[in-house]
This record gives sequence, structure tokens and C-alpha cells, in this order.
Amino acid sequence: EAKRAKTQRGKQYQRVMSEKIKRRLAYVDDMKQGLEQGDFELYYQAQYNHYGDIIGAEALLRWQHPVHGKESPAVYIPIAEESDLILAIGQWVLEQACRDIKKLEQLSLPDSFNKIAINISAKQLIQHDFQEIVLNAVKKNDIPAKRLALELTENLLVENIEDSIKLIASLKENSIDCAIDDFGTGYSSLTYLKRIPASVLKIDRSFVTNIAKSSESAAIASMIISLGKTLNMDILAEGVETKEELNCLKELGCFHFQGFYFSGPLPFDEFAKLITNN
Ligand code: C2E
Ligand code: MG
Ligand code: MG
Ligand code: MG
Repeated sequence: EAKRAKTQRGKQYQRVMSEKIKRRLAYVDDMKQGLEQGDFELYYQAQYNHYGDIIGAEALLRWQHPVHGKESPAVYIPIAEESDLILAIGQWVLEQACRDIKKLEQLSLPDSFNKIAINISAKQLIQHDFQEIVLNAVKKNDIPAKRLALELTENLLVENIEDSIKLIASLKENSIDCAIDDFGTGYSSLTYLKRIPASVLKIDRSFVTNIAKSSESAAIASMIISLGKTLNMDILAEGVETKEELNCLKELGCFHFQGFYFSGPLPFDEFAKLITNN
């Protein structure tokens, strides 16, 4: 009796699993089709210094699922990462960002403006010819390499630490800077951080959100800021939503910001307007 119940449960479990897998595969297909049809878009979120000048922007992927509507990249990027589709998506992001940089170059940009950063996934980074891919896109679109930057999460770097260090150093020699994204949420040790030749440390939003209310978050943010300074890195706080958060960050010595308080992610044309009017 017990045994029969167990096999029943096993069968049900298998059914649920295969349903789940089917849905996943269908979702990946939707993404693939969306990519082919040109349904993906890059939005740009401006980054500011403490004078209020725009110093750069982060490119953020946008896609509307045919049935589910607008979805967050936090939902579909991890699904794309389970298959090789992330490589095609990543390639599209790289090339679209380069095309948009080319368009920006033809506008009268403020002197404060430095670069556009794109987010990079683990599978992209571990491609043996990743650097070549990036440099080719830059060359093909005839843009200065210094206008493009890469955002890599802390965990991604730590998982391939020796290769990451070499790659980031080599990209830097080619004028392409890297930022460590979502810093503070991962498990990198100080020993690692010291060796990673990234130019920017992005304080994760989770510390910024509570900074004015929680002395713990403020203490962590403060520690990240002094760490970054010691290592000669620029520190940028992400997810700044309020004046209080901004003031707190300034007091702690952080002078670069990104967040809804300043501007949300915008379609390219709106971002171009924002930057030329700033
Ligand atoms: P991320 O790289 O840490 O990007 C920052 C996220 O915070 C973005 O969410 C942005 O819209 C959001 N954000 C910015 N300011 C604020 C704020 O003041 N308050 C709040 N609550 N949120 C804010 P988004 O666009 O949904 O992207 C989520 C994540 O998806 C990104 O986190 C990144 O990890 C990933 N992602 C986005 N675009 C790409 C891409 O082109 N390639 C890859 N591999 N990953 C991407
Ligand atoms: Mg990012
Ligand atoms: Mg981030
Ligand atoms: Mg984040």
C-alpha cells in the first residue's frame, strides 16, 4: 500500500516536472523568436556625479513576452542563461550598445559623459574569444573603446578568478573598463578583490535602500566605500531612490549614483534627449 502510494507520488512528480520543463523550453523559444523579430530593446539609465552631471549610463535589456507582457530581465535572463541563447542575446546587447554609442558620438555630449556599461553573463565571459568578440564589435561600429564598459557580478568573477583577472587586465589595456556589479551580495574575499583590476565598484541596491534607516546597512556601505577607495576604484551606488539616501551616501564619501531619484531606465531617444539637455 505504502509502496503504491510512493510510485503514485513519483509519477505525479514526473508529470509536474515534465510540464515545468516543457514550459521552460517554450519560454526559451519565445525569447529566441523575439530576438529574431527584433523585439528586444536596450534602455539606458543615466549615472550621475555629485554635481548632477551625467557621467555615463547602464544599458538594461527590455523584452515584452507575447503573452505575459513586459517582464523583468531578472526573470528571463536566468532562463536564457540555462541555454546557449544567452550568448546570442549577449551578442545582440553588445552590438546594439555599440550602435547606440555611435549615435551618441554624433550628438554634442557633455564633457562629463564617459561611457555606457553593459551587463555580461557568466557564459559570455568564459568564451575563449570573449575579448576578441568585444573588440570586434567596437571596431565594426567605429567607436572609441573607452566609451564601452562591462558590468560583471562579484560571484561571476570569483568563480573564474584567475581567468577573470587576466581578462579584465587585458580589456583595460584596450581601454575597456570593468565594474563589479551588485557588490556586497556575493562571497568575494578581500584577497580576491584586491587582485581584480576593475575600475568601478557598484554598491548593491540592498544596502542603499536601508541606508538612512539602518545603521547596519550604513556601516556596510561605509565599509565598501573605504574599501573601494583603498583599492583606487570609483564607487557608484545603485538604486538611489530618495534625497535621504543620496545625502547619506555623500556623507559616507560616495559621489557617483544611479537610481530612480535621478532617472529610471529610458528608451534610447529619451536618454539621448536627457543627456544633451543635462
Ligand atoms: P543590475 O545590473 O543590478 O541592474 C540594476 C537594476 O536595478 C535594473 O533592473 C534597474 O532597472 C533597477 N533599478 C535602477 N534604479 C533603481 C531604483 O532606484 N530602485 C529600484 N527598485 N530599482 C532600480 P532591471 O532592468 O530589471 O534588470 C535586472 C537585472 O537583470 C540587472 O541587474 C542585470 O543583472 C540583469 N540584466 C539586465 N539587462 C541585462 C543584459 O543586457 N544582459 C545581462 N546578462 N543581464 C542583464
Ligand atoms: Mg548592472
Ligand atoms: Mg547592479
Ligand atoms: Mg542588481
